Amino acid sequence: MEVKILSAKFDIKDAHKIEVAKEHGAYSTLDKLFSMTSAEVIEEVKSSGLRGRGGAGFPTGVKWSFLPKDTGKPVYLAVNSDESEPATFKDRYILVKDPHMMIEGIIICSYAIGSHDTYIYIRGEYTTQFKALQAAIEEAYEAGYLGDTVAGNNFKLNVTVHRGAGAYICGEETALLESIEGKKGQPRSKPPFPAVAGLYGCPTIINNVQTIASLPFILNSGADAYKAYGTEKSSGTHLFGISGHVEKPGMYELPLGLPLLEVIEKVAGGVLNGRKLKGIIPGGSSTPVLLPDEAKTVTLDYESMAAHKTMFGSGGIVVLDETVDIVELVKNLIDFYHHESCGQCTPCREGLGWMLKIVKKILSGKGKMDDVDLLRELCDNIEMKTVCVLSAACTMPVRSYLDKFRHEFEAYVTTEDFSAAEAKEE
Ligand code: SF4
Repeated sequence: MEVKILSAKFDIKDAHKIEVAKEHGAYSTLDKLFSMTSAEVIEEVKSSGLRGRGGAGFPTGVKWSFLPKDTGKPVYLAVNSDESEPATFKDRYILVKDPHMMIEGIIICSYAIGSHDTYIYIRGEYTTQFKALQAAIEEAYEAGYLGDTVAGNNFKLNVTVHRGAGAYICGEETALLESIEGKKGQPRSKPPFPAVAGLYGCPTIINNVQTIASLPFILNSGADAYKAYGTEKSSGTHLFGISGHVEKPGMYELPLGLPLLEVIEKVAGGVLNGRKLKGIIPGGSSTPVLLPDEAKTVTLDYESMAAHKTMFGSGGIVVLDETVDIVELVKNLIDFYHHESCGQCTPCREGLGWMLKIVKKILSGKGKMDDVDLLRELCDNIEMKTVCVLSAACTMPVRSYLDKFRHEFEAYVTTEDFSAAEAKEE
């Protein structure tokens, strides 16, 4: 089931070094790139069907074509390497094992969109990844793949790495731009969208690491070769991180469209210790959970996930076995998003705090049936009433756990009237 496109060099010793990477094809697309017009490159990427691999799944070539023409302003590329969604661990492999694939992708994208400055925003905790990336960028400058004349062509490109400071919200594209500009990492109201007014108020394309790293294959082998993998609307391959209660957790490159349960069974070795499957988080912690029965008909692509009222997300699959306490899981989930709220919207800042208090009360055994309903009601009242989708990243999965595992919440709810008991003691 596994394929090797993005991960083709992952098992090659020292492939992060430019001489080894070049022996295995790195930067070989550049002659072809500079023989094409930027419009032809955009067309090729559009035709490949490549979709943003950061989670939203928006068609990459279409995003590029949103850039306004002839504004007289510089165009920027920002590469989102702030991989922070719980259960997501794919981009880190590219950054450490094959950073030159991403740099080559940056050159391709920059040429296509007419940008001469790239900012790579890397999550602060990624120390090893930062060092590997920085070393690769220095090698690329020395080899002439970055700088004033990229690969000897009349095309200038500079790449700057910007390290985050550990805020999940800086993975949100406008918060990421604010952070690069040296401001507080808080999302902006949209519109205007970054393609029109992004970094320093200039047209900006923001793409995820894996999206950018997919470009060398597309340009080298052609859109049709890329489309040979995956489904009609979800083409290509994806790096899936499979974790939780499976025999063989890990990162696997797979074509899109494979049956979810078959992947868990055949690729990840099935549920740990032969225990019973309880649920599956399909694409990072913010995606609604799937029950085993629902998962039977799910395939790993954007359309199938949407049809099952969940999301493809970041490709971070978490398998939950029968031992998982769903209420504890929900408490951890709310705790995380509450902690990571940037605080500028009241429903997110305060609402997630209320949700946390309620779920803790339920866990303590002092909750009432009304608290379970209130938790559900808060999800509806917080969602889509905020500047960015962080609040929804919390409420959407919490609602799915409440709807699908309500009995577990109810089991924690006491029928005992504590106030009456306390009054009696007094
Ligand atoms: Fe900040 Fe939350 Fe509002 Fe997003 S939803 S802008 S994280 S307060």
